[in-house]
Amino acid sequence: MAKGYVVEPDVGFVRDLQELGGDTLKKCYQCATCSVVCPISPDDKPFPRKEMIWAQWGLKDKLIGNPDIWLCHNCNDCSAYCPRGAKPGEVLAAARNYSFQYYAWPKFLGKALANKKSLPWLFAIPAAIFLFLIFMAYGKTSAEPGKIVFSKFLPVLYVDAVFIPTALFAIVAFVIGLKKFLTEMNGGTMPPVGGILKSLKNVLPVILKHDKFKECTENKDRYYGHLGILYGFLGLFVVTNLVFVMMDIFHMEDPFSLLNPVKILANLSALALIGGLAVVLYNRWKTRETSGLGTYYDWLFLLVLLGVALTGIFSELMRLAGIGALAYLCYYLHLICIFFLFAYAPFSKFAHLAYRTTAMAYADYVGRELPVEEGESEGSSSEEEGSKE
Ligand code: SF4
Ligand code: SF4
Repeated sequence: MAKGYVVEPDVGFVRDLQELGGDTLKKCYQCATCSVVCPISPDDKPFPRKEMIWAQWGLKDKLIGNPDIWLCHNCNDCSAYCPRGAKPGEVLAAARNYSFQYYAWPKFLGKALANKKSLPWLFAIPAAIFLFLIFMAYGKTSAEPGKIVFSKFLPVLYVDAVFIPTALFAIVAFVIGLKKFLTEMNGGTMPPVGGILKSLKNVLPVILKHDKFKECTENKDRYYGHLGILYGFLGLFVVTNLVFVMMDIFHMEDPFSLLNPVKILANLSALALIGGLAVVLYNRWKTRETSGLGTYYDWLFLLVLLGVALTGIFSELMRLAGIGALAYLCYYLHLICIFFLFAYAPFSKFAHLAYRTTAMAYADYVGRELPVEEGESEGSSSEEEGSKE
């Protein structure tokens, strides 16, 4: 006689999902409209209907260790068509937010990023570190009278002393979290790294071209907004590394000319980032009735990114205008925002970049998703088909 399947709901998990932005999950009555309208869900075991029932039943292991929650690109076409207003797009976003905490290392930082009450001390840490360093540097270096030079205000070595360990910490935290994530998706064993890297090569062009975002029908503008954010961010990341090389290795001095190619790239990237953020924020507001306003994680991430771009631009504008006090204040705020973005990256919405990329690579590896146009796929490297449903 076949054994019955005993469902053991995790009531606490359901509550957590509701608090993380999935407060509408109980409204779902399993009509499956969402899975039909989702433009990127595969025909085989489509999402997000099955994820909705797992969320309602509190089946944490099934939901969190499921790559499909990451294959969803949050276009909210499903939420627009859901006859019950269950907002499946937001429920999947809440499940992804839960993942950041679940796989986080160290755990306390995962919990802190999820808790609004922790926000003051999360900002206070970099604020205190940079204030201390500015105090230590005071009087040791000074710019020529009338000139505003950020590296004289806070020497590059001091900045490096904060950001190099911060970057190393974020990399280690990401590696630990992603290893746990891959192991769980793969049913308890780590899939071969070589296979995942091969699949990563297949999915990177899809991510860089944003092909999946193009398939959304309800929020088409989101494609341009997301593209602006991605390339703006990548541009600023390249600029940060180039400036590191120019100042630390070649001992070049700031400020750089506005016509310097690195400066041009920095300014264009900041504008792309601000433009992309404006589109995404406007889109969020426009679709608030059908898709929801977004989660705390979404807003925190978007506002910190906006903070990085605006404080960077204003510190430059104030420097050009010769207003030293405001230029240095904006630069100080800029450093705080950058620290927040990178030090807490493995525990914030920033992590979706790494988790979604990993899930897409894993999906390609198990043959769950075709990374390029159907029929052109280079194929997956595993015999296993479908998700773990
Ligand atoms: S989330 Fe909405 S559309 Fe999807 S199955 Fe539930 S009720 Fe139907
Ligand atoms: S939000 Fe978009 S991608 Fe995600 S499940 Fe809904 S329709 Fe599909």
